[in-house]
Amino acid sequence: MTYFLHRAPSILLSAARASAAPDSPAGDAPESAGPVDPNLLEDLVLANRILANQGVLDGYGHVSVRHPKNPERYLLSRSLAPELVTAADIMEYDLDSNPVHLRGRTMYLERFIHGEIYKARPEINAVVHSHSPAVVPFGVSNVPLRPLYHMSAFLGEGVPLFEIRDAGGMTDLLVRNPELGRALAQSLADKSVALMRGHGNVVVGSTIPLAVYRAVYTEVNARLQVQAIMLGGSITYLEPEEGRLAATNIAGTIGRPWELWKRKALAK
Ligand SMILES: [Zn+2]
Repeated sequence: MTYFLHRAPSILLSAARASAAPDSPAGDAPESAGPVDPNLLEDLVLANRILANQGVLDGYGHVSVRHPKNPERYLLSRSLAPELVTAADIMEYDLDSNPVHLRGRTMYLERFIHGEIYKARPEINAVVHSHSPAVVPFGVSNVPLRPLYHMSAFLGEGVPLFEIRDAGGMTDLLVRNPELGRALAQSLADKSVALMRGHGNVVVGSTIPLAVYRAVYTEVNARLQVQAIMLGGSITYLEPEEGRLAATNIAGTIGRPWELWKRKALAK
């Protein structure tokens, strides 16, 4: 057991104290949706560490979860390298990505990715934004990212590209305001993964384990696809029907890798 799990109750207590005495100078901070089940906070903390262990997140990138008591709120760490995130670092935001309790903490510049996707996709409860390295080339190439094997069958629904120039012209490539977040959510549409040209990708799911699973296997598929291309012959990708069948089957088994990844993250 690592110390961050034991800190979960203290964040709940401090959240309760703070909601009694809002710390926004203007007094116009969004209202808290209330304490969160420590198990969900634990899953969010572990998702950060698992994605770092799997090479999806490094010093950058983030993962969030929708607040289970209020769909208009979500939970995301303060600005911190994912591997260092503890339950005490988790902040609550409204869907415009305003913090409920700032308390002097630094926020991720790109939190708008999360808020705007939660607005656009009511069925989505977890969002991962990463610079997952093997995936980046597919965001700058005209070679589409396609499912090579059953584990990444969810890619068969299509992987849209977010071209930030279409939304914001010349930028520093960061989704640093609500308009860019909305444009990204529009590019993602009803899909599970969107590439962000010259930047990274975003992956969504109805649960934390599903979003983590998809983020991991998007990275693995990208690696394998490059290897298959390097073989030089023709490539047989999954047929759409195979993709649908495999994605349905795999979705029922993700508890297995999730428990393994959790165990490994806890052992670190
Ligand atoms: Zn980014």
